[in-house]
Amino acid sequence: MSDVTPRFTTGAPQNLEERFAGRAAHMQPSEIRSLFAVASRPEIVSLAGGMPNLSALPMGMMADVVQKLILTNGAEALQYGSGQGHPKLREQICEVMALEGIRANPDDVLVTTGSQQALDLISRIFIDPGDVVLAEAPSYVGALGTFHQYEAKVVHVETDELGLVPDGLRAAIKSVRAAGRKIKFLYTIPNYQNPSGVLLPADRRTEILTICRTEGIFVVEDNPYGLLGFDKPSPNAMRAEDSENVIYLGSFSKTIAPGMRVGWALVPPSLKEKLIIASESSILCPSNFSQLTISSYLADQPWRDQIASFCELYKVRRDAMLESLDEYFPASAKWTKPGGGFYVWVTLPPEIDTKAMMPKAIVAKVAYVPGTAFYADGFGSWSMRLSYCYPTPERIREGVKALGGVVKTEMSRRSGNQLN
Ligand code: PMP
Repeated sequence: MSDVTPRFTTGAPQNLEERFAGRAAHMQPSEIRSLFAVASRPEIVSLAGGMPNLSALPMGMMADVVQKLILTNGAEALQYGSGQGHPKLREQICEVMALEGIRANPDDVLVTTGSQQALDLISRIFIDPGDVVLAEAPSYVGALGTFHQYEAKVVHVETDELGLVPDGLRAAIKSVRAAGRKIKFLYTIPNYQNPSGVLLPADRRTEILTICRTEGIFVVEDNPYGLLGFDKPSPNAMRAEDSENVIYLGSFSKTIAPGMRVGWALVPPSLKEKLIIASESSILCPSNFSQLTISSYLADQPWRDQIASFCELYKVRRDAMLESLDEYFPASAKWTKPGGGFYVWVTLPPEIDTKAMMPKAIVAKVAYVPGTAFYADGFGSWSMRLSYCYPTPERIREGVKALGGVVKTEMSRRSGNQLN
């Protein structure tokens, strides 16, 4: 084939904004996307990303699983599959969920391309512009971005060191309804929350479920970190207590590998059909190759031991971060002490603006995510999320030390300014 010079080379199309659909205006890059380009430079210690650490995953074993799959069942693995997801994997997903007290029927599971796709589907079937989604304060940036694209108004619910506060939820429902707005669902991450690392206790789970059920509000329980408890298992999933009013989201991204892009939604039967149709319209079917790789892995490999190895790896890193925060951060800073998952949430004195401080941290060769990324309303400017999942413990200590220095300098600069 010979090369052809394009005939039309006049640059970007004219009046693009007018040609886009109205909803495209709500498609903005997340605050943390631009940060990752900087944070991934090798000289920077990145406490910013939430990338699972795959160094504990035996790659030879994964290669064997994939090779055997292709040689014995390649025709199915490389073919289109069911829109709802592979039946065998849906059964195995029910076994995984049983670890958190859930008794489920594989018929009610929809396999998705990561749980992020499930967030998109749920938003698509529930949210009209202006509808309210309730969410913890702070909450997962990727979910906030999705709700925003569907033009929801996110109302944050009060949290404390134990997570979502039931009275705060009651108050939020009351004030949203008094303003005449519709609440579509409560979005919550009860286990080792992103970004706070907090674990919601069992009694609060029951109380929140009761409130939502009474008020006719669905609960979207997002649970990618539930099996990553370091010292003890997390309480039963909320879905274990309520199969009618909870939409449960799970993922293999943190317990196996995010590159597989396999997650799922366990949904009340009344919602299943709509979600499958919505999913088929975006992806036709989840990848059979990924699903069958995970299915073979779960069938033939010691996956529970593998999760235990991940927990060991993350626990050592959590300890390195908490110890170095104690050592290098000023006494006026506060932070959470997660029992699992990937994140620590740090709160500084209110005069510190963590977004404005970021360039100084980069100069000191450390990156984090400024707190405002996790709020839909601009709050959180004096907080930050630190992730301990990816760097080595030595690099974590180095990064926290450098960041502690930046924070202290910023604090003394501020108090100097106040004296002037
Ligand atoms: N929910 C939460 C709380 C997350 O932290 C993440 C990823 N960091 C996701 C959903 C999406 O994960 P995935 O699509 O890989 O399953």
